[in-house]
Amino acid sequence: MCDQKSIYIHVPFCVKKCIYCDFYSETPLSLIPSYIKSLQKEIETRSGSRDKISTIYFGGGTPSLLPVKDIETLLQTIGDKFSVSRDVEVTLEVNPGTIDLNFLRRLKKVGINRLSIGVQSFNDDKLKFLGRIHTAGQAVKIIDHAGKAGFDNISIDLIYGIPFETETRWLEDLKQAVMITPHHLSCYMLTIEPGTPLGEKLKKGLISPLDSMAMSRLFKKTSRFLSKFKYEHYEISNFSRGSQNRSKHNSKYWDITPYYGFGPAAHSYDTKIRSWNHQSIETYIKDIESGRLPVEDTEILTREQKMMEMIMLRLRTLEGLDLEKFQILFHRSFQNEFREILDNILDQSLGRFMGHEFALTLEGKTHLNSIIEAFSQKIL
Ligand code: SF4
Repeated sequence: MCDQKSIYIHVPFCVKKCIYCDFYSETPLSLIPSYIKSLQKEIETRSGSRDKISTIYFGGGTPSLLPVKDIETLLQTIGDKFSVSRDVEVTLEVNPGTIDLNFLRRLKKVGINRLSIGVQSFNDDKLKFLGRIHTAGQAVKIIDHAGKAGFDNISIDLIYGIPFETETRWLEDLKQAVMITPHHLSCYMLTIEPGTPLGEKLKKGLISPLDSMAMSRLFKKTSRFLSKFKYEHYEISNFSRGSQNRSKHNSKYWDITPYYGFGPAAHSYDTKIRSWNHQSIETYIKDIESGRLPVEDTEILTREQKMMEMIMLRLRTLEGLDLEKFQILFHRSFQNEFREILDNILDQSLGRFMGHEFALTLEGKTHLNSIIEAFSQKIL
């Protein structure tokens, strides 16, 4: 059994929905007090084992909409029920449109030691298009405030590949970002999800998305540009100033280690079973109040699913897939099992073996989806 686990807390509230977003969140904030009570109860009920916790992550939604005293209460509950590592990484996602310096100072005091700031862009037109509630100026100010409040582990989220994005325009965002020198940068390629307002615009022909070639060019440009500024491209969308600044929490997902997910729509994983909570604040609260776990469903992972998951997650990373680990877990040689697929990848220089690891090249990562599809057809 792995004794180092992670905790993810889903905060399903937003001031306003951004047009591209398909994360679960709702806009009425009046349920926050009952949500907090339910969350405490869920943590208390599911925490029998006093597992050792090495990372805690408040994601959303917009966790920075929670009052700091509630965040403190939740951290205390976790501290009472789990064995929290002394060097635990505690991240909170913040939206620059919801906070000020005072909030950040108080956040630091209650034990948040890493901030993930949802900047998305330093261009007001782009922010407006995305439906963000803040301006570029507000974002810059909040990053400055974060430093003043004493945060020394700051990550910035940016989005690229929106319909009218040019290479020059995206580079402007990246230039602004590196001038600020955050410890970590997440650069997400925009995906237009069906059912979102952006998906609707696409369906009606009101926007023309960038084609995959243009997206691939932006992806490679991002990696090359950031590497000049000493950012390590350690996962397909993530860059850190040295390996000490990698997100420990997200790295655990990519290492496929167990985690607890608390809150509506949160997923949990214990190496054998995956479970997920109801994607409805009301049902979540009702279940907890009636003494039930708010679990919507569980799934026992098959050997094939675990194999697929390992390949899918590890090929996103800089280090890639550990061949020895694969052999130990599945009693098969990765090279023998997937010879044909691997030959294909190697022939096109999309991947390479390095010692006991197999990783995709930068070009290979632009073909990640089709590579995953090839593995999936063989395994599942
Ligand atoms: S703030 Fe974040 S979670 Fe909320 S709607 Fe926008 S992208 Fe989605």
